[in-house]
Amino acid sequence: MAALCIFCGMAPESKTKEHIFPQWLLKMTGFHSKNTSVGSNWATGKEIVFPGKNYTFPACDSCNNQFSDLEGKVKSIVERLCEDVDVSGTDLELLLDWFDKIRAGAWLGVSYMNKEVFGLPPNHYIRDRIGVKDRYLSVTNTYLPEKTFKWSGVNSLTFMASPTALMLRVNNLVFVNASTDFLVSESVGFPHPDTEFQTPGSNIANFNLLPGTGNVTADCFTTKPYLPSHIIRQPIFKSAHGINPDFYDNDHVINNSHDLIAGIGKLFLQNNQGAMVLEREDRVGFQMDEAKSVYGRVQVVRPILELQLEMLRARWSRLRFVSEEERDKQFMAVNKIIEYTNEQIQQYNY
Ligand SMILES: [Zn+2]
Repeated sequence: MAALCIFCGMAPESKTKEHIFPQWLLKMTGFHSKNTSVGSNWATGKEIVFPGKNYTFPACDSCNNQFSDLEGKVKSIVERLCEDVDVSGTDLELLLDWFDKIRAGAWLGVSYMNKEVFGLPPNHYIRDRIGVKDRYLSVTNTYLPEKTFKWSGVNSLTFMASPTALMLRVNNLVFVNASTDFLVSESVGFPHPDTEFQTPGSNIANFNLLPGTGNVTADCFTTKPYLPSHIIRQPIFKSAHGINPDFYDNDHVINNSHDLIAGIGKLFLQNNQGAMVLEREDRVGFQMDEAKSVYGRVQVVRPILELQLEMLRARWSRLRFVSEEERDKQFMAVNKIIEYTNEQIQQYNY
């Protein structure tokens, strides 16, 4: 496999290295020179462990520079969240962009390290995945005075099939991040698909949309990945709006969107105080009122795998195929993923 830029997927003109885990994050958590496990090699079963600062992949100089601006901003946002300082709606959108970057980067990282297993070159790169699908982030402050850096959910077949969700722990913060097509739309009362038509040999999926109800529910998942938490949901619908503009032409969608044509919804924030829709200039805090002593002592690995399975099953239930033969073929593949992930869930019961 040629060394392609992880941002744009082109052969880098002026080659640099991009850290999948940004340097500032490693320094902040004390993991700059500490060894980090990035999962197992799937062919050998061997765990891949090396200092986080050496976990780098090729990138163009220009792509790297462009994204370093985002890193600088997000560093300050994460520092403020760690210290219970308010952040703005704009800050949270940047944080969601950053999680899109981290998820795509983690997926590329694991793909590269297991290229003999997956064979095919990656079908998307970081740039293709930022701010293009609905997104979800839950934030919990554990208030535990410890330096730690952990991620989970990345080394699963479900994640490899589609990098939908991961958990990231940064010192006293626990983040659960998820993103896929129409992930939150129905739960925030926006148009959403009832069926998705799969064309064989193509990644282009066609959705049959239903109009939104205008009702906002408390969550979009049955799985509770991490509690208690503040949940942020943002619908993203640029291409869906292009195809079904009538469904988006109503007060609920218009009032709860930053930009209808660009398909950018506002942030829906949910916590035990209730629900609110954030404007970009609004400032919010992520304080927790509950007893602080229990935080950090609940399972984090198992729930993220369960969340990935919930997302996979939700997609499967709406998929329609051109033939029964095609459906059977896909069903076998999906079943294998579900079986394997269930085994992992048993194994990682923490
Ligand atoms: Zn590039």
